Amino acid sequence: MSFRLSSMSYRARLLWGLLIVNIPMFVILSANEIVAVRNFAFQRELDAISTEGQFLASDVTDALLDHDRARVNEILSFATTQHQIKEVSILDINSTVIASTDPTLVGRTHPSTEPVPVAKIRGKSFLKSFPIRGRMMDGRIPRFLQMNYSFEKAYGDISSTLVWEIGIDSVEILIILLVAWFISGLLQKPLIELRDVSNLMATGDFSRRVHGGDRRDIVGQLAAAFNNMASRLEVLTASMQQEIHRATAELTSSNKFLNEKREQLEASNRKLRELDVLKSDFVSMVSHELRTPLTSIIGFAKTLRTLPLSKEQQQQYLAIIEAEGKRLSSLVEEYLDISKIESGTISLQRKPVNIATLICSAVDLFSVSLRKGFIVDLPPSMPDIMADGAKVVSVLHNLMDNAIKYSGDSQEIVITGHLKDDGIAVSVRDFGPGIAPEDIDKVFDKFYRGKNPATLRHHGSGLGLAIAKGIIEAHNGKIWCESLQGKGTMFSFFLPLQSQPKLETLPPAGNAYY
Ligand code: ADP
Repeated sequence: MSFRLSSMSYRARLLWGLLIVNIPMFVILSANEIVAVRNFAFQRELDAISTEGQFLASDVTDALLDHDRARVNEILSFATTQHQIKEVSILDINSTVIASTDPTLVGRTHPSTEPVPVAKIRGKSFLKSFPIRGRMMDGRIPRFLQMNYSFEKAYGDISSTLVWEIGIDSVEILIILLVAWFISGLLQKPLIELRDVSNLMATGDFSRRVHGGDRRDIVGQLAAAFNNMASRLEVLTASMQQEIHRATAELTSSNKFLNEKREQLEASNRKLRELDVLKSDFVSMVSHELRTPLTSIIGFAKTLRTLPLSKEQQQQYLAIIEAEGKRLSSLVEEYLDISKIESGTISLQRKPVNIATLICSAVDLFSVSLRKGFIVDLPPSMPDIMADGAKVVSVLHNLMDNAIKYSGDSQEIVITGHLKDDGIAVSVRDFGPGIAPEDIDKVFDKFYRGKNPATLRHHGSGLGLAIAKGIIEAHNGKIWCESLQGKGTMFSFFLPLQSQPKLETLPPAGNAYY
């Protein structure tokens, strides 16, 4: 099993460090203790042996001097019953055993009787000699009382002492490690909190703070600095978010503004393209329409100048030239009107106008030169409206002129005025051939002319209704057409009051017939 210190946790590293320091110390201390305990135990044994040996040697000397062999034997036997003495022997000057508690030793020479230093003691037994005096019963001269001591008990004591000592040392190390583990946990706690709060900050949550900022130690200072940094970051982030919101809002409104401008530009471009097409159409139509009366005028003028004509013919040609000139003039007027409407430069001279009066005047004007009859149906009183009278009259003239032109043999034209809540509606109705349903929507288009025989019988530019529509819409009004083929046509327009209505009582009109 391999492991790397750098990949271990802070606490595990601490424990490893403590173990690495403690184990050699434990070994050294234990070895030291073993030696000390052993030396102490042996020294204590040796001291006891010496004391006891001297007493024993003194007792044996006394017994020998008294020639009391029985007492000598008794002392020697008694000695072997106590204090780890394995055997006791009496040696002569040549170290030969002359008496012993172990009879097998008698007659053998015993080894050195020199005192042995504690450190040199090997094995589990030890010989020590003490000088004695006197004479044996058989006349031999004893010189030493030699005792063979056993260290078995001392070894047992040493072993149990060492087991205890090593056990206590091990428990000590264990306690040190446990305390170190506990203290490192306490020391780690603020760091763990710092880590958790930092992780939260990484997700954008700056609301949490760490504890211990009021402590005066290094961890407290670190916590205070961290909390300070978190507060600053929170403020900074809030202001940045506000800034981002503001910038986003600005960007959105700029985008909206740009989109609106782009749409306006696109609409303008579209309109410009349409206007360009219209302009081209307009120029070709105008040149075509103007060419016809001009050709007549030039042709008849040339005939008048070059041919000898009767007075009657001359008058007739001059009348044609005059009529074509008028047609040319009205065509130019219409072109000017429609170009003003299309360019949006039409100007209205708004004044209080009474529609009933305008209708009556128009009917008077047309009645003089026509054989058709007009039926006028107006309410007893109509309020004035704010409008450009001349332009409203031109609309009325156009509708009445069309009704007269395109109604064929029908003899009657009905003009009706209606009072509405917010304005006045006027209708011009004829009982002519009518307009095909699919053409009704086209009649207000510029240059549109019907293909029916009633239309083809008359000159026309196809601009009259387009101009009428432009004029009515410039007044914020509305114009429309209803027609049934074979039954007739009715054109109507509505004009809003646009100002405080001024009621004007008309002469009793009712259903007038002109
Ligand atoms: P113009 O009269 O010069 O042709 P207008 O714009 O006034 O031009 O009319 C457009 C077309 O609408 C006419 O050519 C005609 O075909 C049709 N029109 C207008 N008024 C009537 C009407 N009262 N009855 C039938 N057709 C009509």
